[in-house]
Amino acid sequence: MPRIKELEVLTFAVPSISANQIDGASTTTVVRLTDEDGHIGIGECDGAPSVIKAFIEMPSSHAFWGQGIRSMLIGADPLEITALWQRIYDATAFSGRRGLGIQALSGIDIALHDLAGHQIGQPVYKLMGGARRKHLTPYATIFPGWPEGKKLSELIDGLATRCEHALKLGYRAIKICVIFGDVVTDTKLVDVLRQSRRMVGDNTPLMIDFGYRWRDWADAKWVLNRAADADLYFAEATLQHDDLEGHAKLVEHCPMRICGAELAGTRWEVREWMVTAKVAVVQPDINHCGGLTEIRRICDMAELYGVQVIPHGWKTGITAACGQHFQASCTNAPMFEYVVPEIYDLPLRRELVSPNPVVNDGNMALPTGAGLGISLNQEAVKKFQIN
Ligand code: MG
Repeated sequence: MPRIKELEVLTFAVPSISANQIDGASTTTVVRLTDEDGHIGIGECDGAPSVIKAFIEMPSSHAFWGQGIRSMLIGADPLEITALWQRIYDATAFSGRRGLGIQALSGIDIALHDLAGHQIGQPVYKLMGGARRKHLTPYATIFPGWPEGKKLSELIDGLATRCEHALKLGYRAIKICVIFGDVVTDTKLVDVLRQSRRMVGDNTPLMIDFGYRWRDWADAKWVLNRAADADLYFAEATLQHDDLEGHAKLVEHCPMRICGAELAGTRWEVREWMVTAKVAVVQPDINHCGGLTEIRRICDMAELYGVQVIPHGWKTGITAACGQHFQASCTNAPMFEYVVPEIYDLPLRRELVSPNPVVNDGNMALPTGAGLGISLNQEAVKKFQIN
């Protein structure tokens, strides 16, 4: 098979966005691999673009555990994805292993999958073991923007309008973000959860993202138990991300699924969420946890613990495509997070890659193109590239 000839790290940002309005879809880092025959593979990394780029492009700083990534990829066979993953993980252990190094590795791993898929002319989910289901189930996230300077009524109107739009577009599973900070009291939040249920109707799975609202598990429990009649599929980001013991207490005392691990890197860290926090759902982001190789391994491990894997994903169409191939090939993955491009003013999400899948009565068809089935739009590359 043709070898990898070129590695590029492209960084993108939506211009002139104010610092307090930036979210995960306002910037991105794209890893682009080209092989000797001109096949291209693209992947995307979570994290600060300038830092991720520097990490991937850094020269070697240690003979064993601080090697430059470029030298490991140029000349490599892209079909040896898992072997390359391990090589990069081991050889960047000084500054990788968790966090930023794994975010970088995630984008590389996704690009390797895309490139290998193009080389053999098959969709990525077949490289991941093949289809385990007939169709896909995206859930639409409803986010009314950050709360600063807004009234509660404005935030709730923002939720209601977007919920209606998502249902009209054909989404049949919805997550509502109540990242409202001080704009809402805990008592009022109980009403907001009941209102959220009315917005989506009785038969739609409803998830709630609390945006790491509480420091004390008993406060979280107070709200979750009072709003039990809102019938939540899961409660996300209730406590601080690293408070695994607190999560375990919530699991014990609340009726709905408690989830977590959206910022976790690698199966090693996600395992702690199963063993210590005992959550029912883990949400590692494919562009953050170690890519498609690692989410696959996390899924296999989660099956042994009776845990669902429903990845976080708030970035461009590259991450959205990863969600499709992931869900297609994993059994204990009832849904994946999907940013609905029609609902948000997120230029990178709408324009950076195409095509976007079609949703019909809650379902998406299995992807059919080679690799991830998407490509970078050159116009958007010119418009948003920052390096
Ligand atoms: Mg979240």
